[in-house]
Amino acid sequence: MLRRAGPSLRHFLLERNCSAGYSSCSSEAKMSRPVQARRLEGVDKNIWVEFVKLAATYSTVNLGQGFPDFPPPDFLKEEFTRAFSGEKHMLHQYTRAFGHPPLVKILAQLFGKLLGRDLDPMTNVMVTVGAYQALFCCFQAFVDEGDEVIIIEPFFDCYEPMVKMAGGTPVFIPLRPKAPKDGKLMSSADWKLDPAELASKFSERTKAIVLNSPNNPLGKVFSREELELIADLCVKHDVLCISDEVYEWLVYDGKEHVRIASLRGMWDRTVSIGSAGKTFSVTGWKVGWTVGPNRLLQHIRTVHQNSVYHCATAAQEVVAQGFQREFEHYGKPDSYFVQMPKEMQQKRDQLVQSLVAVGMKPIVPEGTYFLVADISEFKSDVPDVPNSDEPYDSRFAKWMVKNKGLAAIPLSAFYCGPHKNNYNSFIRFCFAKEEATLKAADDILQKWKLEKTTP
Ligand code: PMP
Ligand code: GLN
Repeated sequence: MLRRAGPSLRHFLLERNCSAGYSSCSSEAKMSRPVQARRLEGVDKNIWVEFVKLAATYSTVNLGQGFPDFPPPDFLKEEFTRAFSGEKHMLHQYTRAFGHPPLVKILAQLFGKLLGRDLDPMTNVMVTVGAYQALFCCFQAFVDEGDEVIIIEPFFDCYEPMVKMAGGTPVFIPLRPKAPKDGKLMSSADWKLDPAELASKFSERTKAIVLNSPNNPLGKVFSREELELIADLCVKHDVLCISDEVYEWLVYDGKEHVRIASLRGMWDRTVSIGSAGKTFSVTGWKVGWTVGPNRLLQHIRTVHQNSVYHCATAAQEVVAQGFQREFEHYGKPDSYFVQMPKEMQQKRDQLVQSLVAVGMKPIVPEGTYFLVADISEFKSDVPDVPNSDEPYDSRFAKWMVKNKGLAAIPLSAFYCGPHKNNYNSFIRFCFAKEEATLKAADDILQKWKLEKTTP
């Protein structure tokens, strides 16, 4: 209304607001009561907004936010060019709300094969604007005031605010590290749930558990036994599982990615979430999906149709072609899903070597494109500030990007408020980077180490 009003009506409305007791009459009408909704309380800070800006300002080598700096596979780039080359002009228009038909069809085919069941593309699959929106839809669809949602720490940061915005209460359970014997490097597999502690978190109020395997930030790939433990508790307490599997193809050392939806009693209570960004190294396309039973997906569709409605048609078309290609090459040596983890494992090993050489102890990840490292040896360069509200690792990461030009993410970003200081001597690096970028990171670390050791 105000936007359409001419100058005199606008002036009149501003004056009326002033005389009605609203706070400021300077240039814009302001309200004296809080304008923000209850849902926004305490969720205004976002680690990515903060650290992406720092990296853009100071970094020469950015191993912070998780995205590849190498190109996507050629077959996908070719499909991209084809999609925009002219003949398929309807790709510039709206498509089906819950997913472009070619994409939901191929996703149903592929995940049907992986889960060992027939999937209906129209009811068992829904496309979202990245896995981020899939997560948001799940929490909005299933979580009510008073519901509890179990979150495994360390966790991808958005789970906590999304649960809170839906009115729910996050309940945290930590992965606890156990140092390996014989001076070996720690592995993400050394971080485990305590079964009794996990069981104690389930109550009558528990609506859902969020599982993220392979896990961001540790790179932990939950074993079948660990998943069975979670699955048994879900079945026993009639709890839903929101399974974030965006790194499903990034698993190393011959480890197996087990889909929790494939375990006994879990299909009917699980929503599996994936991301084309991670699958095909195209994080900017923001294409994600949910796979699950219609009894759950129908509610996700309701949130989606009343918020985003649909994801960019052309991006969905290209991702569909990419999956079609991968479906035909499934398990073959030239499949991207076979080649990519091999290449990424080499990059992981290269970064592990760099970090070991300078004394930052890496936790070797079994999956994802992240690696968490212990920075204790470098603490003398960034002395602690007693009683600071900011966790040490956060100050360390900020100091590092400003003084060394190397960007990383503090591990505390993946813990809830009261637990942020539990493990505050670790930072997360992303190794989905070109050889030259990893080499540049190595140069920075070597030089830093030399400066430390040269009197
Ligand atoms: N889940 C996890 C664990 C992630 O690391 C990310 C980050 N990309 C997402 C979900 C969101 O994925 P997308 O970029 O497809 O929205
Ligand atoms: N998933 C990516 C990471 O963990 C990006 C997160 C984001 O930008 N929100 O780095």
